[in-house]
Amino acid sequence: MKAFEFFAPKTLAEAKGLLNQYGESAAILAGGTDIVIEMNEGHRKPDVVIDIKKLKDLAYVRIEGSKIHIGALTTFEMISSDPVIRERVRVLAEAASKVGSPQIRSLGTIGGNLATASVAGDGVSAMMTLNASVVLDSVRGQRQMPLAEFLDGQGVSSRNALLADEIMTEVFFEMPDNHTATAFYKLAKRKSLAISVIGAGMLVQVDGAGICIKASMRGGCLARYPLHFKAAEEHLIGNKISIDLLEETLPMLHDAVYESAKSRPWSVFYKKESVQGVYRKLFAAILEQLNGKSYE
Ligand SMILES: Cc1cc2nc3c(=O)[nH]c(=O)nc-3n(C[C@H](O)[C@H](O)[C@H](O)COP(=O)(O)OP(=O)(O)OC[C@H]3O[C@@H](n4cnc5c(N)ncnc54)[C@H](O)[C@@H]3O)c2cc1C
Repeated sequence: MKAFEFFAPKTLAEAKGLLNQYGESAAILAGGTDIVIEMNEGHRKPDVVIDIKKLKDLAYVRIEGSKIHIGALTTFEMISSDPVIRERVRVLAEAASKVGSPQIRSLGTIGGNLATASVAGDGVSAMMTLNASVVLDSVRGQRQMPLAEFLDGQGVSSRNALLADEIMTEVFFEMPDNHTATAFYKLAKRKSLAISVIGAGMLVQVDGAGICIKASMRGGCLARYPLHFKAAEEHLIGNKISIDLLEETLPMLHDAVYESAKSRPWSVFYKKESVQGVYRKLFAAILEQLNGKSYE
């Protein structure tokens, strides 16, 4: 690993000042579970490392109005054990509880997961399912954007929209109401310390008659960013949620994965089949939450 200058600011203002001063030559370190590996392997060679772990004010889960706000420094352990997240946002609680191992979950942060923007980022899939937005801050001021736009942005790296002097402070999303069910399923080669083969999320909101009025379906590891199953979502909206409706959407998932991954024939044959099994599990979990019954 190349030698670097190290700072551990105690306030957000101090961190922003350092980022403003050192810009592209600096790298933020939160839990370190991604960046330390990148530095060890020589893929990242910052002159300055800004360790933000002391910014405890950036570690929180907070409800404000109809939204849930999560500080960028909140660890997966904090997220998966938060009572509101467990009760109201299962897609996120389940994704967070499946990350790595207990050690990785106690260090790894949601901000680090979204900034790394890995194809297999479980936090990325869950937050995309929730249509989350991020808050970026710098001495120049704050800006907010949908996570999809953040991941698509060309910032200081091609991974996201972060500019050299910016720090992510928060991610937020609409709190699912009592007529909304969410779920996450991670298909992996083993139960712990496993990178997702598919990490998929689902959200369904129904009206008083059980008709779907909102749907969100995102599949991680199926494209550069979680694959958006738009046709399947559109098919659910306006219809009564049932097992039969699920069966009708499965070919749409198969086709979407095929289209997305056909240039990678080694994975497409397996993934276009397994995505259907993944969504059968997700749909069963959604139906169980909406109807209080088990469908597996
Ligand atoms: C053994 C192992 C298993 C793992 N398993 C999983 C898994 O199952 N699922 C999964 O999704 N991930 C997994 N990971 C990856 C990793 O743990 C997560 O991506 C984690 O969330 C990264 O967070 P961090 O706080 O450690 O980030 P860091 O390593 O500290 O930082 C990662 C990147 O984000 C930037 N960054 C961090 N915080 C901010 C911020 N607030 N503002 C701007 N930039 C920031 C850093 O500069 C760096 O570029 C695993 C990693 C390991 C080592």
